[in-house]
Amino acid sequence: MLDLTDERLLELMSKTGQMAAEELQATQQGPVFAQPPESLGIRQALGDADVPLPREPEDLPAVLESAGTALAFGRRSSPRFFGYVFSPPNPVAVAADTLASAADQNVTSWRSAPSATEIEWTTLRWLSEFIGFGSDVAGLFLSGGSLAHLTVALIALHAHGAGDADRRRLSLFVSEQAHFSFDKAAVALGVDLRRVPTDERLRMDPDALTAAIAADRAEGNRPFCIVATAGTTPTGAIDPIARLAEIAAEEMAWFHVDGAYGAPAAATERARGAFAGLDRADSVSIDAHKWLYVPVDCSALILRDPDATRGVFGHADEYVKVLQGAPDESFAFWDHGLELSRRSRAFKVWMTFKAYGADALARSIDEDIELAELMADLVREAGDLELLAEPSLSVCCFRHRPRHLSGSDLNAHNQSLLTTLQRDGRAYLSNVTVDGVFGLRACITNFRTTADDVQATVRLVQELGNTFSGRS
Ligand SMILES: *Cc1c(COP(=O)(O)O)cnc(C)c1O
Repeated sequence: MLDLTDERLLELMSKTGQMAAEELQATQQGPVFAQPPESLGIRQALGDADVPLPREPEDLPAVLESAGTALAFGRRSSPRFFGYVFSPPNPVAVAADTLASAADQNVTSWRSAPSATEIEWTTLRWLSEFIGFGSDVAGLFLSGGSLAHLTVALIALHAHGAGDADRRRLSLFVSEQAHFSFDKAAVALGVDLRRVPTDERLRMDPDALTAAIAADRAEGNRPFCIVATAGTTPTGAIDPIARLAEIAAEEMAWFHVDGAYGAPAAATERARGAFAGLDRADSVSIDAHKWLYVPVDCSALILRDPDATRGVFGHADEYVKVLQGAPDESFAFWDHGLELSRRSRAFKVWMTFKAYGADALARSIDEDIELAELMADLVREAGDLELLAEPSLSVCCFRHRPRHLSGSDLNAHNQSLLTTLQRDGRAYLSNVTVDGVFGLRACITNFRTTADDVQATVRLVQELGNTFSGRS
């Protein structure tokens, strides 16, 4: 019997609630790592690697203590964590995720999870309104942009009658800076991926796209899908969406906007203009776990045409067929995506929108963009730092440039600097390569980060960089 007595159940929930609150508090300040991460130390703290399968129960307090140790060894998305594209979770969303686990709705269909399905529809509409994609949409939540892109590429294959075509003759066009999830989608589906050159600001060059499509067609291939990235992962560049939408329409290709990282910025005055044409896309992907401050995993694939998924995902087994009920009540997500069992990912976004309001979220996103601009200003002012790309959205790419180093020595120097910084744990940046130059990349997607954090991080880079450039 796995149940606990009422008393122990409440005790467990209040203890884990308290631990969760402490974890959120630890993330409010930093450091990124409580101690330098090192695999042997972690294993020893958690029990040796060859610790046997527990056959007998441990006391719950001991289990919770191990859990606490595991949390303490984690990486925290503290206000000076600027690596990858990753936000700390807002506390309401963490609570929401806990509740979603307790209710454990399996959101396969309306019949299996009636309220969670209604919430998913509402949340997709809210999200779509938030970014200016309109409120008349379909779609679903998935684990991340990677699955969203595989899913949308499959949907695009079936649009415009390409479903029966020879896949080796179908091409998916993305920019050179697009995310590698499109390489995976192309591999999985057996289509060709074409990477189109970018302009000086690392945005897809529309003329290069037109030329690439013409060359491809001359070889007997057909463009079935064109993707605009609205916020590239390396530098935050936004492809010219409106122009690419025109080309996609002329070519009768599906037009997707990869907003996994950047789409939430379309909710801000500051960045909205760069997203002009977004409403002309057939679909858009948004990772709520990136810039809407909810815990992983939570990505939305929003589709303009509710019929786009018809026939794409084959026939479900008899046992899951919904045989009766009103149209909404016979709705099944399995007809619209690759997953069958799914947790209620929308729940944490729904509670986040309700608890904070869309305007506060947009303000927070706006502040992140402003902080990236501040970081770029600090880099420009510093004699020993060099900006590698104009900041775009909330990304700032730069490198340390001591006077006595040049060329490949600078690349090596910045590589060691990055490793040192990442192990140091007071702040965290990741790497980027801009035009063959190795650099440090900060992506600011944290509602807690302040100007102080940005200043301290820039100073830390200078300090660490100068320490060992003097030594070498
Ligand atoms: C992160 C990212 C993806 C992939 O999303 P996951 O949720 O990590 O699978 C795709 N595109 C862009 C632009 C991204 O930043």
